[in-house]
Amino acid sequence: MTDWFKVKNKVRENIFQRVKLEMIYCCEEHVDIALDTVVNEHETFPLLTKLDVDNLSTSCEYCRNSAVYIVANK
Ligand SMILES: [Zn+2]
Repeated sequence: MTDWFKVKNKVRENIFQRVKLEMIYCCEEHVDIALDTVVNEHETFPLLTKLDVDNLSTSCEYCRNSAVYIVANK
C-alpha cells in the first residue's frame, strides 16, 4: 500500500466520522420505522437501497426477519 493510498483512506475515514454515516438493515415490514429513525436523528432525507437477492443473510434491526432494505443517511 502506498503512502498516498493511506492518506486517502484516512481522509475518507474522517469524512465518514464527521457525517456519522448510519446504515439500518430492515425488512419490508419495518422500513417505515427505519426511515423515520434516520429522518428524526439526522434531519436528512434517507437513502433507501434494496438489497441484492444473494445478500439476504443480514437480519432486520427490529425483528428476526431477513433484511430487504438498507436505509442510510447519505
Ligand atoms: Zn423487521
